[in-house]
Amino acid sequence: MDIEKIYKDAGAYLEGHFLLSSGNHSRYYLQSAKVLENPRIAGELAVELAKQIKLAGIKADCVCAPALGGILAGYELARALNIRSVFTERVDGKMTLRRGFEVKKGEKFIICEDIITTGGSALESARVIFEAGGQIVAFAALANRGFCARVNSAKSAKATCKLPCDIPFFALADFDFEIFSPDECPMCKMGSVAIKPGSRGN
Ligand code: ZN
Repeated sequence: MDIEKIYKDAGAYLEGHFLLSSGNHSRYYLQSAKVLENPRIAGELAVELAKQIKLAGIKADCVCAPALGGILAGYELARALNIRSVFTERVDGKMTLRRGFEVKKGEKFIICEDIITTGGSALESARVIFEAGGQIVAFAALANRGFCARVNSAKSAKATCKLPCDIPFFALADFDFEIFSPDECPMCKMGSVAIKPGSRGN
C-alpha cells in the first residue's frame, strides 16, 4: 500500500510553512482527517494495520484512541480486528476515560492514533487504561512521523520518542519530515510566517 500516495491523493499531505504543536516548524504537514473522511479508504488502511498486528501474533480485547485525532483510526482498527473501541479525552488538560467506557482487569488494549509524532498523547491514553486495570499490548497509528521505531521498519527511535520500547508499535509508513527550530527555520529566514495547521482552512 502506497500510504504517501493515499495521503497526497486525499489532499492530506500539505506543503507550506507549519507551526507544529512542539513549537518547531516544518515544510510538510499530514492532515489525517482528510484521508479518514473517506470511510472506504479508512477501512482499507485499518485492515492493513490489523493484518500487521495479527501477523505479529498480538491479540487484544479493545482499541483505545486519544480524542480527537485517534478516534476514527481507532474505531476502524477495532472494526478490522472485530473488537471493542473506546477513547480517552482531555478534561482540563488531563487525559481521562469517560462516557461509561469500562476497562476490565487484565483486558488487553491497543492504543491507536491517526499519527504518532513523539507519542505523547498515546502514552497518556495508555496510562489511563493501565491505571484502570488494563494491559497495553501494542501501539498503532496509520502514519509514523519518524520519531518512534515501528515494527517492520529499520528506522530507529529518536531520543524524543515517548513510547515505551518494550511494547510494539505498528504503523503503515514512516514520514520523516525535517523539522526546524524557529531560529534555524529556512522558511522564516525567507520572511515567511509559520501557520498553525487547521487555522486557515487546512
Ligand atoms: Zn519557520
